[in-house]
Amino acid sequence: RFKGILLTRDENKVMSVNVTELGLDDLMEGDVVVEVEWTTINYKDGLAITGKSPVVRRWPMVPGIDFAGTVVSSENERFKAGDKVILNGFGVGEVHTGAYATYARLKGDWLIPMPEGMNGRSAMAIGTAGYTAMLSVMALERHGITPGRGPVVVTGANGGVGTVAIAVLGKLGYEVIASTGRTEETDFLKSLGASEIIHRDELSGPAKPLAKERWAGAVDAVGSHTLANVLSMTSYGGAVTACGLAQGMDLPASVAPFILRGVSLLGIDSVMAPLALRQEAWSRLVTDLDHDKLEALSSEIGFDGIVDAAHQIIDGKIRGRVVVDMKKT
Ligand code: NAP
Repeated sequence: RFKGILLTRDENKVMSVNVTELGLDDLMEGDVVVEVEWTTINYKDGLAITGKSPVVRRWPMVPGIDFAGTVVSSENERFKAGDKVILNGFGVGEVHTGAYATYARLKGDWLIPMPEGMNGRSAMAIGTAGYTAMLSVMALERHGITPGRGPVVVTGANGGVGTVAIAVLGKLGYEVIASTGRTEETDFLKSLGASEIIHRDELSGPAKPLAKERWAGAVDAVGSHTLANVLSMTSYGGAVTACGLAQGMDLPASVAPFILRGVSLLGIDSVMAPLALRQEAWSRLVTDLDHDKLEALSSEIGFDGIVDAAHQIIDGKIRGRVVVDMKKT
């Protein structure tokens, strides 16, 4: 038997978080078993463990949406015992038992071979949040938002998506404006690659249909009024990626930026992204994210710290990324 976190629900749908012992029979079916060596805490993991949003849709559930580890046994032709792999998305930790246990059993088709130049720790320091930041930057590039077009604003700057987005955009030569509620972290955000810091209060109230043009592009992880303001301040022909809902799931905006400035809103989904796009994002993260910056924006905990960290991320208290060493208590 091995350690794991199990979310259960009673007949009144009241959820409990159990740090417990599990057997392989507690895990859902799959053709590959992986020993989970590294995992992480994403905002969605916080939502699952605190029960704040209904991200868990099968009960009982082992939460945890991503991990890095070593294949223990495989009936999938793409993998054999000993292979180093990454898993993120595909409903793992939501509808399929997930990362917060010593072993995971799942479909081999969901796994990505560990890219050359990355290890389990660095992959999970990046995690779903960092990989989503990369998907966002790639979407801006596909839309022609090059560094020469003008600044890019990153909202939720101190969060997981935000910190990695700043580091990648900075390395690629973009002028980065970071929007944060934690302006005391100005030096940290500048060390990652931001050149200007704005307070998130500037963007968090009701938006005008159009406002002064301030940036050519945006990586938004916040949604709601913040996304509406970001759109209204995007310059002619610019593009905005939307991946998150830290302020809210609503979008109280007008069509003015789209029809008067040709602004585009680009949706980013990490969970069901096709394999080729995933592989491209993970290999871009090897070249376009400085190792030193990744170290600076991540902190490490052991298995016993997962539940606490899940509460902290929902309270907006985590800076950057938290990586979990599953071999540590
Ligand atoms: P995170 O580390 O908690 O970062 C979110 C950041 O948003 C916080 O650090 C905070 O930044 C800011 N924020 C929090 N509450 C806010 C509020 N009420 N108003 C304005 N800003 C607020 O979370 P994450 O892991 O980066 O994820 C960010 C978002 O992206 C989440 O909603 C997550 O679910 C979503 N996401 C989506 C996908 C996808 O596939 N679409 C993938 C990954 C993540 P400051 O302290 O700097 O203000």
